[in-house]
Amino acid sequence: MSTPTDKSTETATAASHTRRTFLQRLALGSVTASAAIAGAAALQGARPADAAREQKEHRRSVKVFRLRSRKTVACRACQLHHRHFVFLTRKVARHHRAHPGCDCPITPQWIKRHTFKRLFASSGAMENGFVDLRKL
Ligand SMILES: [Zn+2]
Ligand SMILES: [Zn+2]
Repeated sequence: MSTPTDKSTETATAASHTRRTFLQRLALGSVTASAAIAGAAALQGARPADAAREQKEHRRSVKVFRLRSRKTVACRACQLHHRHFVFLTRKVARHHRAHPGCDCPITPQWIKRHTFKRLFASSGAMENGFVDLRKL
């Protein structure tokens, strides 16, 4: 026999379970990517359908940051440097520019999760927040 009181208890339990699962995923970092996508989609004014499609494509991907050499103005040092570095965050990228005064744009890039694991498997890569592709 189900009274209204029983029902509300059930709902509360289910809700707290969902919340717990969400928090566990958050701790593991698996929701971070979709949260970032939602944010980016909102910024670009993308339609929900676009966001959903993008989210599906990116589910197995990890966002990293690259310094982008500008074809016309980036100097040779920048072109060589930027090609070889992959950064975990925009902030790390900002602190590892080719030289003082380098103002090349920092752009996000999606890479496959297994590629990411391979790149950042080397010792110190996660702590440093970047990898030098020449030293893999
Ligand atoms: Zn430069
Ligand atoms: Zn540069």
